[in-house]
Amino acid sequence: MHSSNAARAAQTVHPVPGFGSDEMERVADQTLKRYTFDGSSVRKLGRGVSIVWFRNDLRILDNEVLFKAWVSSEAVLPVYCVDPRIFGTTHYFGFPKTGALRAQFVIECLTDLKRSLMKRGLNLLIQPGKPEQILPSLAKAFGVHTIYAQKETCSEELNVERRVSENLKKVMLTSPAKLELIWGSTMYHIDDLPFSCTSLPDIYTQFRKSVESKSVIRSCVKVSKGMAFAGGESTALSRVHEYFWKKDLLRTYKVTRNGMLGPDYSTKFSPWLASGSLSPCFVYEEVKRYEKQREENDSTYWVLFELIWRDYFRFLSIKQGNSLFHTGGPRKVQTNWSQNQTLFDAWRDGQTGYPLVDANMKELLATGFMSNRGRQIVCSFLVRDMGIDWRMGAEWFETCLLDYDPCSNYGNWTYGAGVGNDPREDRYFSIPKQAQNYDPDGEFVAYWLPQLRALPKEKRHFPGMLYVKPIVALKFGNTKSTNNWTMGSGSRRTSTEENSKWKRHDRNRMQ
Ligand SMILES: Cc1cc2nc3c(=O)[nH]c(=O)nc-3n(C[C@H](O)[C@H](O)[C@H](O)COP(=O)(O)OP(=O)(O)OC[C@H]3O[C@@H](n4cnc5c(N)ncnc54)[C@H](O)[C@@H]3O)c2cc1C
Repeated sequence: MHSSNAARAAQTVHPVPGFGSDEMERVADQTLKRYTFDGSSVRKLGRGVSIVWFRNDLRILDNEVLFKAWVSSEAVLPVYCVDPRIFGTTHYFGFPKTGALRAQFVIECLTDLKRSLMKRGLNLLIQPGKPEQILPSLAKAFGVHTIYAQKETCSEELNVERRVSENLKKVMLTSPAKLELIWGSTMYHIDDLPFSCTSLPDIYTQFRKSVESKSVIRSCVKVSKGMAFAGGESTALSRVHEYFWKKDLLRTYKVTRNGMLGPDYSTKFSPWLASGSLSPCFVYEEVKRYEKQREENDSTYWVLFELIWRDYFRFLSIKQGNSLFHTGGPRKVQTNWSQNQTLFDAWRDGQTGYPLVDANMKELLATGFMSNRGRQIVCSFLVRDMGIDWRMGAEWFETCLLDYDPCSNYGNWTYGAGVGNDPREDRYFSIPKQAQNYDPDGEFVAYWLPQLRALPKEKRHFPGMLYVKPIVALKFGNTKSTNNWTMGSGSRRTSTEENSKWKRHDRNRMQ
């Protein structure tokens, strides 16, 4: 039933980016050209064979793993392991670990990566199986000296890294290949932080101010034509081109980013960033190029501001370790969460009786994406109005999101559930107020819940008898558009950091 609903709804969604394949290829080729050396300035000193183990870095542009493998060896064997554990179930609640939409997205990333590598004479080996079994046996068969891979930070991924190393030693007794893990995925490099991850500030603003004033974002790694790099990550590069240059949306990002409907209110870079087919440092450089060539304003900065959040959650995962996944979160907060299956199912299936929550959950199911605003709303509803264990929500997101990333997902959920590392974060998102501020005409809810389209705009969020009966009462306020509708100011997005500032002035007000 889910899949047929999803298929029906998917027919109505917007393609992101909205380019044809020819235009995409042209944009990708041009972009990669700008990021390619003529080869004369890089000397290849390497010998022997190395493996590039692709993980969440499915790109060519600004891929230090690939670059290091290339300079250190005569032959490079790129490998991607389709780990069966990724298709197992989530830790506590047994949801599928990878939803069908993200699986499809990753297949597309791999197809594109394989094509790009092929163009330049490298064939990506896509092998089903566990990395700790595949990589050591390949290393032995080809006499590999080093396996290069991007460093991960969370426990499941770290366990795989450890097992790969152990098995290399078991399989290659005399001179085992080395596993060399290279930092990637963030805009600020871990080695350039002004503090160690164990003393990472607990407050985002302190982190941001510190890195902005004391750290420098490294330039993208440039690749040599000689290595035959091109193509690949075409959709990611096309989306950057479309959002920044063609549609000129970077100019207004700060005022539109709060939207929920359509492809252009925010960048939609996250699925490519999460799978590593897009480098955050490349996005940074494109922002800087845009600022030079077109305009520098609050909006151009704000994309970087959001990317620093992404960095922050990645570094926090090192500091917090597995507490990120525990019920009490990093602060070990004791809460009596419910695991009521009926309530949870209603939330998951978009049947809560609150159109704003339901429309967002249906969008997630149908597309694998949900706006940042939507994520905050459904998270608050699940944990605060329903009192459901936040990990059930986080694990469902883990199943469905195209952009699923353990650090950003669990980081945001722990914040939303009030168990994150910032003790000042205790956020309640009032449904009536959110509806008024971010979907005043009910366009978003009517898009995902067609039965509301015939209703007058002012009734779409609270349709009464004409819609599913609300499954729980709201913790603060009822389902009518009463007091909360008048609170807040216009449609300004309240990002997590803004929330904190705002809350310092009036901690008891709802958002
Ligand atoms: C409960 C919850 C769960 C989330 N789970 C994930 C997740 O698994 N993976 C993920 O990438 N993002 C997650 N986010 C963060 C955010 O919602 C998405 O990154 C964003 O909506 C993606 O859309 P965009 O690329 O258009 O973002 P834009 O608004 O265009 O922002 C640009 C980029 O900045 C980064 N960014 C923006 N907001 C955040 C944030 N709050 N935390 C971390 N990075 C951010 C993303 O990489 C994003 O692509 C979650 C947020 C919440 C509230």
